[in-house]
Amino acid sequence: MVQEEEQRYKEERMRLVEHLRRQGISEAVLQAMMRVKRHLFVPPHLTDQAYADYPLPIGEGQTISAPHMVALMCDLLELKRGDKVLEIGAGSGYHAAVIAELIGEEGQVYSVERITWLVEFSTKNLNKAGYTKVRVITGDGTLGLPEYAPYDKISVTCAAPDLPPPLLEQLKAGGKMVIPVGKIRQVLYLVEKKNGIKKERKCDVVFVPLLGKYGFREDD
Ligand code: SAH
Repeated sequence: MVQEEEQRYKEERMRLVEHLRRQGISEAVLQAMMRVKRHLFVPPHLTDQAYADYPLPIGEGQTISAPHMVALMCDLLELKRGDKVLEIGAGSGYHAAVIAELIGEEGQVYSVERITWLVEFSTKNLNKAGYTKVRVITGDGTLGLPEYAPYDKISVTCAAPDLPPPLLEQLKAGGKMVIPVGKIRQVLYLVEKKNGIKKERKCDVVFVPLLGKYGFREDD
């Protein structure tokens, strides 16, 4: 029974990966997404939709991003073996798991999450799926995580009013950050720290807001 279920999820995962391949996602990211069991990161009553290419609610008014968005953000960052990566917004932990696959055992993912319940949810999901090395930390991600800075890459999975200065500071020279910016109309930016800060518009997106000191206010 369990084996049959695993086989069914695997087939669904393969279909999702084929769909993402047609969208031009890189082979490295496709392979990582083939390995991460997304059904372990969604609430139990939604597992039948785990491999659909749209966002799903994970509680507390938050969402796990659509697979194509996770794939695109990982591709834009050009994640490499051994990278030290900071994620803002752990949510379900799924995106962090895909990053962990791409950077390998030599790399390290730190993910900051402000909602305690989601810190627990993501940690539990990551452990279940075998990503025990990922560190989920409670806090305001707009302040970054200075203890382990600087980072090769920063992935922000909620929409900011503007680029939070601490994140720019904590990015290595030559490092890259992906970040959605905007309140209602949001744009995904690729930011590079190379002779100053270069900011490139990528596409229109829909994310939950980044709250906190350099984010939106809860009553905004
Ligand atoms: N990457 C997640 C998707 C997260 S949705 C996944 O793969 O499931 C965005 C998350 O950002 C939410 O969990 C929300 O609580 C969190 N968030 C919003 N503002 C934050 C802040 N200032 N610091 C840390 N996390 C924040």
